[in-house]
Amino acid sequence: MRLALAEAVRAGERGEVPVGAVLLGPAAAGRSEAGDPELGRVLAAAGNDREASGDPTAHAEVLALRAAAAARGDWRLTGCTLVVTLEPCTMCAGAAVLARVDRVVYGAVDEKAGAAGSLWDVLRDRRLNHRPEVVMGVLADECAAVLSGFFSGRRA
Ligand SMILES: [Zn+2]
Repeated sequence: MRLALAEAVRAGERGEVPVGAVLLGPAAAGRSEAGDPELGRVLAAAGNDREASGDPTAHAEVLALRAAAAARGDWRLTGCTLVVTLEPCTMCAGAAVLARVDRVVYGAVDEKAGAAGSLWDVLRDRRLNHRPEVVMGVLADECAAVLSGFFSGRRA
């Protein structure tokens, strides 16, 4: 999540809404760069790039999923973990399901548009045949502070 936060801060510096995401590969037996035995190496990291790319789908999660799939040469990201600073929207939650990630870890809750427990719960919808494990609230205060700092700076 620290790496995702760094991506969020960089996105904010570019004038993007500061959201960052990281894709971790399957756990390597015996060791882990992230310090958690269940998490593997970093496959991709990305920040929101909607303004610069002019692409409404250029959310951090989608960019990280695409980059990780390209790096692996496989659209199936089975065994992987998506880490993101803000609760995914419907598009990104849907993309995580389609990519077959094992786990989605997020920081701040998005009560206005979140699709991982707030407005919807796409990730754990029992009607879907793939349901990633969801871990929420990781460094939530720091993730939220990056966003609120960005928006209060804009209003000032
Ligand atoms: Zn999204």
